Amino acid sequence: MTIASMLRALALSAMLALGAASAHAEPALAVQQITPGNYAHRGHDDVATPANGGDIANVGFIVGSRCVAVIDTGGTLAEGRQLRAAIRRVTPLPVCYVINTHMHPDHIFGNAAFNDHHPQYVGSAKLAEAEAARADNYLRALHRELGAVADGSEIIPPTLSVDGTMTLDLGERTLTLQSWKTAHTNNDITVYDEKSGTLWLGDLLFVGCIPVVDGSIVGWLEDIARIKQMNPRYVVPGHGPLNVPWPQSLDAEEQYLAELARDVRAAIKRGETIQKAVDTIGVNQRGKWLLYDVYHRRNVTAAYAELEWEQ
Ligand SMILES: [Zn+2]
Repeated sequence: MTIASMLRALALSAMLALGAASAHAEPALAVQQITPGNYAHRGHDDVATPANGGDIANVGFIVGSRCVAVIDTGGTLAEGRQLRAAIRRVTPLPVCYVINTHMHPDHIFGNAAFNDHHPQYVGSAKLAEAEAARADNYLRALHRELGAVADGSEIIPPTLSVDGTMTLDLGERTLTLQSWKTAHTNNDITVYDEKSGTLWLGDLLFVGCIPVVDGSIVGWLEDIARIKQMNPRYVVPGHGPLNVPWPQSLDAEEQYLAELARDVRAAIKRGETIQKAVDTIGVNQRGKWLLYDVYHRRNVTAAYAELEWEQ
């Protein structure tokens, strides 16, 4: 072996070691480019567990010519860092916006991973108050469910609020953000990338996993009717597969919510107790949805509490 070839071999092994070290330091979330400039990660169809690390929501990012917008940051600081690493593999551009589609833990607890980019944190005008009211409970539950995996996770409230519509400029790419009537939560927003025709619906769209009512079943059905009027080329659900057809992907959710509202109204009219309603309504839906056993009874309870005040 010549000295030159020895030096080349040494340099190569040093490079490999460095590559392995940096890969080890920053594992990247698996993402796929779903439309030009739009990258999405498919979360696990499950509740948060130490095994899945709280990675249960679809998250992603959109790349402009000037900077990057992140759409939801995952269930922990660790997942947020993996998302940051995935972005770094795609582009050296800074993250200028971190958008939270709503308050739920699986969508917000990775926010702090982006602090050193000094982004604007963007959410509904109602997000900050909703997060503050639930912060203690959310953090306690996160540590109970995930243990050490949750370390460092914190709530970072929005610095930029959406009330109605707002546009964000990423450089040669404009995003339109829109707040909605109380539905999945009272702070749902959607993100539309005009250039690619991609609509990020957050948890206004569940596919496969049962929709969770933490806002208003009446409002959600009204929002769905309006969302159906939109004409995106591609949609991203908050939970479920990334290649869903439009608008058929809304049908199952709409039908579930419409039947739930109908049956709960009928039960209230018959004077049935909430317990009877919870025990009998929607049992035929069990085989149709993932996580039915976790959320369905809670949905009946929420719908009953909301609809019993109707005249
Ligand atoms: Zn949610």
